[in-house]
Amino acid sequence: MNPIFSDLPTTVFEVMSALARETGAVNLGQGFPDDPGPQDVRERAAAAVIHGWNQYPPMMGLPELREAVAAHYRHWQGLDLDPAREVMVTSGATEAIAGALMALIEPGDEVVLFEPMYDAYLPLVRRAGGVPRFVTLTPPHFRLTEAALAAAFSDRTRVVLFNNPLNPTATVFPDEDLALLAAFCRRFDAVAVCDEVWEHVTFDGRRHRPLMALPGMRERTVKIGSAGKIFSLTGWKVGFVMAAPDLMRVLAKAHQFLTFTTPPNLQAAVAYGLGKDDGYFEGMRTDFARARDRLAGGLAGLGFSVLPSAGTYFLNIDIAPLGESDDVAFCERLVRRHGVAAIPVSAFYAEGGVRNVVRFCFAKRDDTLDRALDRLADAR
Ligand code: GLN
Repeated sequence: MNPIFSDLPTTVFEVMSALARETGAVNLGQGFPDDPGPQDVRERAAAAVIHGWNQYPPMMGLPELREAVAAHYRHWQGLDLDPAREVMVTSGATEAIAGALMALIEPGDEVVLFEPMYDAYLPLVRRAGGVPRFVTLTPPHFRLTEAALAAAFSDRTRVVLFNNPLNPTATVFPDEDLALLAAFCRRFDAVAVCDEVWEHVTFDGRRHRPLMALPGMRERTVKIGSAGKIFSLTGWKVGFVMAAPDLMRVLAKAHQFLTFTTPPNLQAAVAYGLGKDDGYFEGMRTDFARARDRLAGGLAGLGFSVLPSAGTYFLNIDIAPLGESDDVAFCERLVRRHGVAAIPVSAFYAEGGVRNVVRFCFAKRDDTLDRALDRLADAR
């Protein structure tokens, strides 16, 4: 047999979490909360495991969850979605993204990507036969510009894969950037696949605006959400996809051959959770904002240059003022010598253009953040 190999890299999250385990470091790398998630939602899941249905649920998702998704997005984002034809449940947002790319791209089609981009995007685009075209965003503001979009779009653009709020930069794109992107999607007849899993994690009074709600975008947007992010239950892998019926028919074809379904008991619990009152979601934002301020204040106090964090549960530091120009080497030293794991943001750039930004996850208990800050005291 010929040797079997993969040209896919090992994800930076796995690499850094393994290093954190090996060295006993405080793990502020891979993004997951150390909060156990809402007890009532977990109890619903437990009850559904014991008393509920544990065989294949319907391929498109439990009707009660699809209805809860439509109601949730009507309430929070003013979207008008038909649960029977425009909502599908997937095994996490990553399945939704992979499925959308499989469904929508023919080999040779161009896909516009915004770097820094979540590290799964580029391998998935390439495996689907897509040709990536990059819009490179740069610190400190990571904004879209007309010139960068004009350079990336062409008559061969089929899909735009857009993440807002943006992991890892913690950017919430302002309305003018969304309007600019929507104008390009309309002009080049592209489908926008919108990874909006951080939609509830926005700070300082900001509200998430779905690209789907912009003029002319309702029919050409695939909107993706995640219960893992909404309820701090990242291991559950329950995601949702929303799209107009013509798009949804195609997306469902990919989903049926990827995972087909998602555990029914978790779906039932998420359906319940999505109906929680506004206080839960406001409380989540307030708690994360407090954690952000604790870590940001601590890092600034130690002399690090902290970049703004408008959403997501990440914040970044600029290491250039420290005379550092290699984020990977910096993170290696941080984890091995100082016992704190972080993520080098160059891992989110295809060509490694930006090498001076390092990401920390602040979705942690106060004592975890304080322990990390203690260890970072002599890391500058
Ligand atoms: N979304 C998480 C992050 O950005 C990582 C998920 C994963 O490890 N695959 O840190």
